[in-house]
Amino acid sequence: MNQNMNNMKRKTRQREIIKQVFQVESRPLNPMELLGLAQSRLSGISLATVYRAIKELVETEWLITVEMPGMALYYEINLHRHHHHFFCYSCSKVFEVEGCVPVETLTPKGFLLESHEIILSGQCSACMQG
Ligand SMILES: [Zn+2]
Ligand SMILES: [Zn+2]
Repeated sequence: MNQNMNNMKRKTRQREIIKQVFQVESRPLNPMELLGLAQSRLSGISLATVYRAIKELVETEWLITVEMPGMALYYEINLHRHHHHFFCYSCSKVFEVEGCVPVETLTPKGFLLESHEIILSGQCSACMQG
């Protein structure tokens, strides 16, 4: 097998590992978390590889970005479903929160509500027990 084929195979394998990490963790991850988790499955994965895989997975809409104020971007599997997030101040992990609340009740009279953002924050259960 020639060098190009080997490179392609390695790239595909690395991308599959990165997808697996997102599926197993089932929460938004930032590139550094992703690097650590991917390295424990396949040694030798570099941060550059992680960034390249993220870029490709965002382009194909398998991943979407999750913005946390003042933090580097997180990424999560694109589930096409409305939801919010919980940010833990202790471990900086982000968790998906199911469902929503009736935000139209907060909208001032005569205003047109078109979108909203809700971020819950505090400590996650693991940090509470730790
Ligand atoms: Zn935590
Ligand atoms: Zn909502």
